[in-house]
Amino acid sequence: MKNSYDAIVIGSGPNGLAAAILLQQQGLSVLVIEGRDEIGGGLRSKELTLPGFTHDICSAIHPMAQTSPFFSQLPLAQFGLSFLHPVADAAHPFDDGTAAVLYSSLEKTAELLGSDRQTYERLFRPLLQDFKDLSEDILGPLQLPKHPLTMAKFGLKALPSAMHLAKRFKTREARGLFGGVAAHAIQPLTNIATSAIGLVLMANSHVSGWPAPKGGAQSLANALGAYFTSLGGEIVTGNFVKALKELPPSKAVLLDVTPKQLLQIAGERFTSFYKWQLKRYKYGMGVFKVDWALDGPVPFTAAACREAGTIHLGNTIEEIATNEQRTVDGQHPELPYTLFVQHSIFDKTRAPEGKHTAWGYCHVPNGSTRDMTAAIENQVERFAPGFKDLIIGRHVMNTADVEAYNPNYIGGDINGGLLDITQLYTRPALRWSPYTTPAKGIYVCSSSTPPGGGIHGMCGYHAAKKALKDVFGVRL
Ligand SMILES: Cc1cc2nc3c(=O)[nH]c(=O)nc-3n(C[C@H](O)[C@H](O)[C@H](O)COP(=O)(O)OP(=O)(O)OC[C@H]3O[C@@H](n4cnc5c(N)ncnc54)[C@H](O)[C@@H]3O)c2cc1C
Repeated sequence: MKNSYDAIVIGSGPNGLAAAILLQQQGLSVLVIEGRDEIGGGLRSKELTLPGFTHDICSAIHPMAQTSPFFSQLPLAQFGLSFLHPVADAAHPFDDGTAAVLYSSLEKTAELLGSDRQTYERLFRPLLQDFKDLSEDILGPLQLPKHPLTMAKFGLKALPSAMHLAKRFKTREARGLFGGVAAHAIQPLTNIATSAIGLVLMANSHVSGWPAPKGGAQSLANALGAYFTSLGGEIVTGNFVKALKELPPSKAVLLDVTPKQLLQIAGERFTSFYKWQLKRYKYGMGVFKVDWALDGPVPFTAAACREAGTIHLGNTIEEIATNEQRTVDGQHPELPYTLFVQHSIFDKTRAPEGKHTAWGYCHVPNGSTRDMTAAIENQVERFAPGFKDLIIGRHVMNTADVEAYNPNYIGGDINGGLLDITQLYTRPALRWSPYTTPAKGIYVCSSSTPPGGGIHGMCGYHAAKKALKDVFGVRL
């Protein structure tokens, strides 16, 4: 460590690394301090079950990492990153053994939706044409849109709840497929603007797929870290910062943490009003996660599910909506909506020859410590009879384990706070720029700022851009 830096970033999640890279690209001296022994935050992989089986501890599928306006410009392939794509991005099985499928090809996806073919094409084709412009406007703070007409057209589709938008479709297949993706919002599907998540993620599939980094999510973190250090940046690991006074002097500090930790680390520098705002910040549902080592591929009844990277398990949109609402209400559904990923069918590095890995989680009430292993495995077995017989290793994390692993996941909330309409653009507090704090030179750069959770680095990018302008007089 040097005696002083231009900027210090606390936390090395995708947003912390994005912030550090943007600052370092301007020729500043930048230090990243990470609490754990490896960098990456939600981008880490490990042999969680058995030797030779590589599991993603947190994030598994990275559609937005590839289309991120910032990450997509970085030379990460030179630092070992390559993305792998499954045959189908996602599949949505039903109780009768059939499935709806999200392919990268819009036409192929629509074709399988029968009488909803035209509705589907009409909904998504304009989004694909405008996707680059849209990404610039929606993956950032609330501001005068650069592309107002495009944003207005998107807003008309995105503002209703997912349940409302699904009324455009007649078939169980189209409704289920859309509902399964929209449920990534980690909110009741009746909430306003839950359509936005479904629309953006599905459009992302048709623009560039739902890939995963070869070798595991950690490969993306490692590539970001290696690029940052190649520019002259410095990383220190194994040091959880408890207070700002522990840090070497710097002109700016950017924190890749959520409001609860922000208050602990920097609270004494804030106004009472800002502290009051941070204390009122809402966290959302948590996750219960299971990783499996398997003796063979998952025997899904629907053939399409056997070649899909992600499977949404929950049957009809109505069943998913009911179970998500029950979870918000503090209950633990018997067969919860489950997100399931099978990396080893498209990345052979993840498991020994002939063996497989699987990754899955369901939503649970924030802070719940209920063991949901059986519920999740019953949900998988429902659509893939024989799945349980293939399990040769298992690793589970309840919300307390998830938070113990990464202090940003408060009560198991993986989005850095509830991502509903009330906090979409005002996270972590209502301010002209949500990345600033009342303390000069102190910024928030985590997913607790717009645009929120997911692997895209855009929270970090916008926070660093603001710090560059305010502190260093650099306008990008
Ligand atoms: C189970 C799970 C599944 C997910 N699946 C997906 C997915 O498939 N696709 C997707 O796009 N997203 C997914 N996500 C969400 C995604 O991982 C997060 O939205 C993203 O990682 C947020 O990035 P971040 O940089 O804001 O914070 P994080 O990635 O959480 O990084 C924060 C970092 O800061 C460090 N830190 C915290 N406090 C301190 C401190 N005081 N001192 C030093 N270091 C500190 C932490 O150790 C951590 O490394 C998933 C998350 C989880 C947990």
